[in-house]
Amino acid sequence: MTDPTDPAIRPASAVPAGRPTPADLLIRAAAVHTLVPGEPPRRAVAVTGGRITALAAAPDGLDALIGPGTEVVDAPGSTVLPAFDDTHTHLVLAGHSVHGVPVHRARDLAGFLGLIRERAARTPAGEWIRTTVNWQEILLAEQRMPTTGELDTATAEHPVLVRRGAYNMVLNSAALRLAGITDATEAPPGGVIERDEHGRLTGRLIDRAVELVERVLPRPTLTERIEGLRAASADFAATGIGTVRDCLVPAEDLDVLDAARAEGALAVRVRALVSGFAARTPAQVDALLDRMDDWRAAGRDDDRLRLWGVKFGIDGGFEAGAVEEPYQGQPCYQGRLLWEPDELLAAVERVVGRGRRVGVHAWGDRGLRVLLDVFEQVAERHPGLPPGTLVVEHGGLARPEQRARAIALGIPVTVQHPLLHDGALTQQRAWGEERTAALFPLREWLDEGALITGGSDFPVGPYGAMLSVWGMTTRGTTAGVVGPEHAIGRSEAVALHTVNAARLTGESAVRGGLRPGAFADLTVWPVDPLDPSACPVDALRELRPTRTVVDGLTVHRA
Ligand SMILES: [Zn+2]
Repeated sequence: MTDPTDPAIRPASAVPAGRPTPADLLIRAAAVHTLVPGEPPRRAVAVTGGRITALAAAPDGLDALIGPGTEVVDAPGSTVLPAFDDTHTHLVLAGHSVHGVPVHRARDLAGFLGLIRERAARTPAGEWIRTTVNWQEILLAEQRMPTTGELDTATAEHPVLVRRGAYNMVLNSAALRLAGITDATEAPPGGVIERDEHGRLTGRLIDRAVELVERVLPRPTLTERIEGLRAASADFAATGIGTVRDCLVPAEDLDVLDAARAEGALAVRVRALVSGFAARTPAQVDALLDRMDDWRAAGRDDDRLRLWGVKFGIDGGFEAGAVEEPYQGQPCYQGRLLWEPDELLAAVERVVGRGRRVGVHAWGDRGLRVLLDVFEQVAERHPGLPPGTLVVEHGGLARPEQRARAIALGIPVTVQHPLLHDGALTQQRAWGEERTAALFPLREWLDEGALITGGSDFPVGPYGAMLSVWGMTTRGTTAGVVGPEHAIGRSEAVALHTVNAARLTGESAVRGGLRPGAFADLTVWPVDPLDPSACPVDALRELRPTRTVVDGLTVHRA
């Protein structure tokens, strides 16, 4: 598909005539892949004032732009690419947990509990101890979460919150007490308080039951929040990511992101989807939209931090995604729909009626079918919606008829191989091998003409520019290779994180390709990731950039 917003391709080799403005940054490399259609690789790129100003075919072709203040990067063996987008991730969540107990490094429960014990030893009694959230119990030797009893052996002096992703928690006894959760507590609608066969608490809380804990957690200070975002966004940049589309920003956290931007703490650009998960009624949706309007009216939307739209979710994930056929070994369970279709239709209509975009999580084939029913009605009742107003997040189990419907509606889909990478074993248990292997049919999406974009869904999947490229080209997961027929090529995978990502956010004129006038968001790699002879496929997995530049500023240097 061609993009009407793309500017005409301009000749990109000449230094501007007259006395040129000296460059802030000039990079000479083995190859500069501009990703601008039809353009051959270049050898030099110049940056001034946060913009790409010139490209040249010869390494010394831009030397006339060198002035006293120019930083010259001579990297004759390196390759330059645009910085990557992670088009579905959770930076705000990453900022909360970046300083948590690093249980994602544990290989078994003994190691897991040891890390908590270690943190407890240097934490004042009574203070909350919280874990990182980017881990999977199935990857531990015991393939399960710790229990309340086990957590109590790590510390009885501190409330302990073990969290995996956004919607799964296990608490120790002290934390259950503080949250007021007893054997008699009823789960809120849409939530699960797990109990054993004797009806006693296991300590595990799922989905909306996590809100029982969230309301009693001490609120981090603004400074702590900013420092969390600083560390987390730097970690993203260190893998080659220059822009994140954060798919779950609580409305009140827009101010936190704003403060982080003001402090220069955001290493990456942010495109924010404000969470609509708590907006169930039209009045609640309106209140959310009012808040977004106020934020934008205050002039706080800029190229670094931009409101993208509103996020909803139609179904659950690995263990609650809504599918047409029952779960494996659970003949009466087909996952959960989180909305009545009519209610979701009303909510989405309110959002698009106010000129905002909507991204809706859909994981199972039933979830996606019901979402497309909703989107078809929205499109019918609101003719002429700008392209990209309605977006499917994940669209995991996309059957041929659903792909055809999404493509006919012109609806982009954000895909996340890292989610499949870490979740494959969990998903196989719930759905069996065949349905797991059918997740993210990337080859089919592209061949059939869809606009799909790449992401991680961190903390459920690990983020990383080339880690994702490796995954999309190999279909490698923690359960081995799954669905290799759905794999795509390297340059296609890179495009999902660059050219396609910029189309999704409506920024093709300034992002996604390296052309004069575009934002100076680029990455420098020690080998050419697009060249299989220079970079074998398995080397992609660990490949890190030597430099990441965002807005003309070096935000990561190896
Ligand atoms: Zn997500």
